[in-house]
Amino acid sequence: MRRIVLFISFLFIPFFIIAEAQDWNIFKSTHFLVYYDKAGQEQLERLTQRAEEYYNAITDDFGFTRFNFWTWDDRAKIYLFDSQEEYMNATGTPAWSGGQAMASSKVIRTFITAPDFLENILPHEMGHIIFREMMGFDNPAVPLWLEEGVATYQEKQRAPGVKKYLAGRIKDGSFMGLSGLESFDLANSKDREKVELFYLESYSLLNYLISEFGKDRFVLFCQNLRDYKDLTRALALTYSFSGREELESSWRARILQ
Ligand SMILES: [Zn+2]
Repeated sequence: MRRIVLFISFLFIPFFIIAEAQDWNIFKSTHFLVYYDKAGQEQLERLTQRAEEYYNAITDDFGFTRFNFWTWDDRAKIYLFDSQEEYMNATGTPAWSGGQAMASSKVIRTFITAPDFLENILPHEMGHIIFREMMGFDNPAVPLWLEEGVATYQEKQRAPGVKKYLAGRIKDGSFMGLSGLESFDLANSKDREKVELFYLESYSLLNYLISEFGKDRFVLFCQNLRDYKDLTRALALTYSFSGREELESSWRARILQ
């Protein structure tokens, strides 16, 4: 089963206070503070080693310029719960969630046994933070599919056959499409299959933009979206799509190719 993660930018402040109130041990690396209870030394070393690798790789990969260096008091915080139950109790997240990021405070919360933690959840959640540092924390024009697409794009292990699976969804009429993605209430959905489809389509759309038009253009698109705070305008300026409909139809055509 593919692991799924949840991104929440500003909610759950009460839970955050609960999480902080717990008595944590702290493990430090150059750019990270790991708050843990029972995790072992080796586990913590492996975790911070991978996190340090992703710290540079994600930024370089997207050609984003880093303005905020995560050092000293500004280090990212990773709360590592011992079990999914403790994680869910503290965060209030649905059972499908394997991790959570709060970008503006650079906090990631997850649990030791989360599936594919080092390969997928960690880079996914870090992707959220780095992306938001570039885009601005309060830019309402950033759609959730883009946010989750960028984060999912960072994952190292991907289930094979996504394109074929989505082509089947288009043919049987259960494909969400752009408007479905935009109206989907991810944070409150308990429908695991729908949530999974949301992530797959978000990834697919992001992957379409990057593989079809290149990374430089994608970075330019992000910059336009950051500066103009208008998705339609950013699409038109960067890709010459007249609007969402044209983006959607060419994306669908690519999946069906
Ligand atoms: Zn996410």
